[in-house]
Amino acid sequence: MQSEVDALLSLQEDDTRIAELEARLHALDPRLTALDRKKEAAAGALARAKTAVETEERRQRDLQGKIAQHKAMQEKNLAQFDAVKRLREATAAMAQVESARRIIADDESELQALGRRLAEMRATVAANEAALAAVEAEQADARESIRNERAEIEAALEGARNERGGKTGAVSRPLLGKYDRIRTRRPKALYPLRGDSCGNCDTAIPMQRRNHMSVGGPIDICEACGVLLYRAASA
Ligand SMILES: [Zn+2]
Repeated sequence: MQSEVDALLSLQEDDTRIAELEARLHALDPRLTALDRKKEAAAGALARAKTAVETEERRQRDLQGKIAQHKAMQEKNLAQFDAVKRLREATAAMAQVESARRIIADDESELQALGRRLAEMRATVAANEAALAAVEAEQADARESIRNERAEIEAALEGARNERGGKTGAVSRPLLGKYDRIRTRRPKALYPLRGDSCGNCDTAIPMQRRNHMSVGGPIDICEACGVLLYRAASA
């Protein structure tokens, strides 16, 4: 029959494997985060470029409205100019036409500049769209390989946990409880005696307690570091 020490050692092997698999699983997270960050940066640049275009388009519409208004007013000015007969009134009407003409000319040149700026900004949007698409294409393989690795690790973890679960019956409940409590604080709970000392912390174990521990026999606790100790066949 398998000794309790052997049963617990085998359980500990499973736990080591489970811990390794869990560490591998956690190691995937920063890789995924890095991919997400890069993609978010590209998407953010695109969103900002689009917002800038929208703001400029709003200004364009406002300016176009203003010009239309001024042109309508100018038509009225010209009609008035045609209607006046007296020289003094004609001079005043002429000045009004001239001033409106300048305002409209200024607005139209601003509108042209705005149109050129918008064309550049739309080109930036297109470039940002292409950049985001490139990042997504470039990341597709990396994301798939992370997905595959995760599935593979999770399957291995499930297997390892099932295997471990099948072994707990061979260890007494109080000992299993102690073992599990120790493992919440350290990666390994069960160590062999090394000569006369604890295999973990090297503190000498009193002879009386050592003598009590036989191969495969009672498990003791190191009073210095708190791990479980057993006597290995070769020790
Ligand atoms: Zn110790």
